[in-house]
Amino acid sequence: MKVVFLGPPGAGKGTQAKKLSEKCGIPHHSTGDIFRDILKESSPLSRELAGYVNEGELVPDEIVFKTVKKTLDSNRDGWVLDGYPRNRNQAKMLDNFLNGRDENLTDAVYLEVPREVIINRLSNRRVCSECGEIYNLSQNPPENEGVCDKCGGELVQREDDKPKTVRKRLKIFSSKIKPLKEYYREKGVLEKINGDGDVGEVFERIKEELNIG
Ligand code: AMP
Repeated sequence: MKVVFLGPPGAGKGTQAKKLSEKCGIPHHSTGDIFRDILKESSPLSRELAGYVNEGELVPDEIVFKTVKKTLDSNRDGWVLDGYPRNRNQAKMLDNFLNGRDENLTDAVYLEVPREVIINRLSNRRVCSECGEIYNLSQNPPENEGVCDKCGGELVQREDDKPKTVRKRLKIFSSKIKPLKEYYREKGVLEKINGDGDVGEVFERIKEELNIG
């Protein structure tokens, strides 16, 4: 199974992609998580990425693809990708790469969530600075304020979840999503899922669409 997750920031791509990877026993890769890990280092790449990631702008396609290729190179049996692709060109690059290995994408899961729900989720989102676990302060809070249940790491608000950057990210998303959805619809792999609801409800919908027991 080779699945990509599409949807606006705050749609729940990371949360649902992780659940799917656990359920199916296949790895989950998030380009956003990979970039945030690189940002913790001090390197020329880290400085270059910071200019895009912290400002809520898309990292250039060639740079992102190098990361994705490196990740998928060692991984042929199945995966869940979240945060990639973000535009039609990235989708084509992924397809060319997979075609070169005689592989195919199985599903492109598109999580649809109303704008007001997204804004609310993003302002309440906190992530573990150590392991990347995602929390929602109103719906899925940690047991102890500011501390990750899983690893005890400090919970922080992502730099790009601050309101001004969120507006920019949503604008960029809206300008790219139509051709991307169209691309996957034409290929017959697009699965539109209502992403409004609690984590378990949305995951049930995904399993149903993907025919997973
Ligand atoms: P995310 O965690 O998926 O919201 O990604 C955080 C940030 O990483 C984005 O706002 C972009 O700056 C960058 N990023 C992640 N994935 C991609 C991608 N596929 N293309 C371009 N930039 C990306």
